[in-house]
Amino acid sequence: MSAAGTPTPMFRQYRAIKDAHPNAVLLFRMGDFYEMFYEDAREASRVLDLTLTARGKGTDHVVPMCGFPWHQLEGYAARLVRAGHRVAVCDQVEDPRAAKGLVRREVTRVITPGTVLDPAELDAKENAWIAGVAVAGGTPGAAVLDASTGEFRAWQAAATEGEPWPALLEVLRAFGPREVVVPEGFPFAEELRRDLDGVAALTAGDAYPFTLEPAAELLRRHFGVASLDGFGLRGRPAAVAAAGGLLLYLEETQKSGLEHLDRVVVHEPASHLLMDAATRANLEIDRALRGGVRRGSLFHAVDRTRTAAGGRMLRGWLLAPLIDPAAINARLDAVEEMVRDPELRASCRERLDGLHDVERLVGRAVAAACGPRELAALRSSLERIPGLISDLARARTPLLREIADGIDPCADVSTGIARALADDPPAGARDAGVVRDGWNAELDELRALRRDGRAYIASLEAGERESTGIASLKVRFNKVFGYYIEVSKSNLHLVPERYVRKQTIANGERFVTPELKEHEGKVLNAQERIETLEYELYCRLRREVATAAPRLKDLAARAATIDVLSALAEAAVALDYCRPRVDASGTTEIVAGRHPVVERTLPERAFVPNDTRVDADGRAIAILTGPNMGGKSTYLRQIGLASVLAQAGAFVPAESATLGVVDRLFCRVGASDSLAEGQSTFMVEMTETANILHHATARSLVLLDEIGRGTATFDGLSIAWAVVEFLHGRPGGPPRTLFATHYHELTELAAELPGVANLRMAVRERGDAVVFAHRVENGAADRSYGIHVARLAGIPQAVVQRAQEILSNLETDAWGRDGLPRLARGSRGPRARRAAQPSLF
Ligand code: ATP
Repeated sequence: MSAAGTPTPMFRQYRAIKDAHPNAVLLFRMGDFYEMFYEDAREASRVLDLTLTARGKGTDHVVPMCGFPWHQLEGYAARLVRAGHRVAVCDQVEDPRAAKGLVRREVTRVITPGTVLDPAELDAKENAWIAGVAVAGGTPGAAVLDASTGEFRAWQAAATEGEPWPALLEVLRAFGPREVVVPEGFPFAEELRRDLDGVAALTAGDAYPFTLEPAAELLRRHFGVASLDGFGLRGRPAAVAAAGGLLLYLEETQKSGLEHLDRVVVHEPASHLLMDAATRANLEIDRALRGGVRRGSLFHAVDRTRTAAGGRMLRGWLLAPLIDPAAINARLDAVEEMVRDPELRASCRERLDGLHDVERLVGRAVAAACGPRELAALRSSLERIPGLISDLARARTPLLREIADGIDPCADVSTGIARALADDPPAGARDAGVVRDGWNAELDELRALRRDGRAYIASLEAGERESTGIASLKVRFNKVFGYYIEVSKSNLHLVPERYVRKQTIANGERFVTPELKEHEGKVLNAQERIETLEYELYCRLRREVATAAPRLKDLAARAATIDVLSALAEAAVALDYCRPRVDASGTTEIVAGRHPVVERTLPERAFVPNDTRVDADGRAIAILTGPNMGGKSTYLRQIGLASVLAQAGAFVPAESATLGVVDRLFCRVGASDSLAEGQSTFMVEMTETANILHHATARSLVLLDEIGRGTATFDGLSIAWAVVEFLHGRPGGPPRTLFATHYHELTELAAELPGVANLRMAVRERGDAVVFAHRVENGAADRSYGIHVARLAGIPQAVVQRAQEILSNLETDAWGRDGLPRLARGSRGPRARRAAQPSLF
């Protein structure tokens, strides 16, 4: 502001830009700093811990202000985003030196939770998805996009997937986007908000781009195609609307750098093993239930990948295993070859070791965000590829052959970088020394000029002396004239015509020549010119790399696949897994199976392996009883995890296994809370159970752990009973089901229904002590040893004893004449005997 209080031109400019981005913190580039003003400054100084200063001090309009040096943009912007802000980056879009008056400024990028590209903010082994949703003809659709890698998928609810709205939530949960763009008036916005609360930031978007026609037009333009049919989008209007709307949102926030989005892939959950969010969580596929951390998950247990992209791919394979036996066996063949050929495996893994995250490097090159060191990293990564290809020459399995034979090593890109970029470049694109000598003639000359300025003058001086014959001729420099040639009075008659007189001095004259002037111009401008030229050359190089983005992405995907296949082989060998037989049968048969995560928490060989056999056509349902702490949950989960691993293409922790492909996998644990979502424990349990009953098919695997536990005993038992009956009576046949329970009454179902069998966890009693054998055997357990476990857990002795008494009462004389239980009877009451579990029927 000026002293009079009228806005200066700069503040008028600021206002106009800020008004166009009212919901974002505006980072306003001024010279070497990004500055924030007014409210933005107050907020940023708090979030970023920056000192709040003021502009226009001493006037009556003091503007609060804070800022940071331009090169710290990524880090500070990321922190603002983490604190829940959108950030608009406003840059100077013309050279301030060339600007007449106020330098032009424009917002060049808007950074939101879903569009952060700072490597420090991204988890190397996870995709950073941003999602958009749309609805067309009453059907919901969604698109997800990872701007850091260029992956782009579109989905729309299919009639076969059941209720469309829950299916939408499932898809979003499966990807776990950081941000979801929801068009105005989206009919399901409330549900999204509730369901994704704390997971993703919801951003309101304009409704128009999320409708079919404009969305389709935008996609066609972006991909340069006349029709979207080639992407499989025909007949998927909601998918198109979501994808187009999302792309526009990205275009508006990123402004540039979306060239690496070269295709959109239809996401078809039906071609994958379906697991809902609860199943993924209960099986701890990529996160442990406790703490939500990676350690303790299946992914963590088997991840031997050497590259970040490989890690992301493996995680994706585990979260969305295949269902086509042929495709699964193709992966298993490749893994097996790597298992059997340790040399091949070792050499591939060694090559992959030095591979940087090519996918994300390319993403950053396209976004013009990557620095010279990242290009150097890309180059060194590419240089490892020919070795990888030659290592793979001996591979025989079709999948490995197909990957290896199709690798384009992008040698032109690596040599291009090698020729232009210094060997050990500085970090910043504008730092000196980015471009190597010998790449650009002008730059070399400028550098030589700067370096050899003196030598050049000396040689010019010698040359002039020789050509003119004036031995005392001197080349000099001063601030007023720049370079000049000085000739003494006695030699003036020898001065050639091309010399231009500049000044007469006491004992001679000063001249310039066109050559000298040219040199002078060069020297004076050299430094400045070197800086701009180097930056220009660097940008050109980066653009060239960006144009190769589709090829580089393909290369990265192939390398990542090799990484995953060799890592799965490495894990199979290191962890002693076997190749499962995967077919279209309805059989799950595991010999000496183990739980991949639990076995690693125990001392070596302490885990007790167990067999499993459930078969859609025979014994389809197993009721598993046994003591608390007996290992029921572990057993149930290891069966589910075996199917996940096998269908992902991995070996499994067992001696041998036949795993008929499973179309849907359900894993439910009774009494899990979701209070944050406002649902009671039991309500959650029942909602999840309802979902299973609606969706389980004869090809599904259903793991129920203590369903019915969250309510009164009789209610729970009745529900559990009816659930088993229902599954048993499914029209297409029962799904393979394992039901762990403490309701021992359920074991009676085995006598009533064919195809239902009882299993129990073996227990040995030695006097007072109980030994959990962790072994599964045929038969029904008759008690749960709950009180025993209570004692182990440190419940006071008095409570344990009293519990024993009450248990005895229940068992022997449980009910009074009034029909109420006589729990409160004391030890002097009749028949306090041996502990037993209540028999409620
Ligand atoms: P509860 O009924 O109380 O929920 P549970 O029967 O489901 O218990 P788990 O939680 O599966 O029991 O297992 C309890 C512990 O027993 C595990 O944490 C693990 O340490 C150990 N355990 C489970 N299975 C085995 C096994 N096969 N071999 C060795 N130890 C095991």
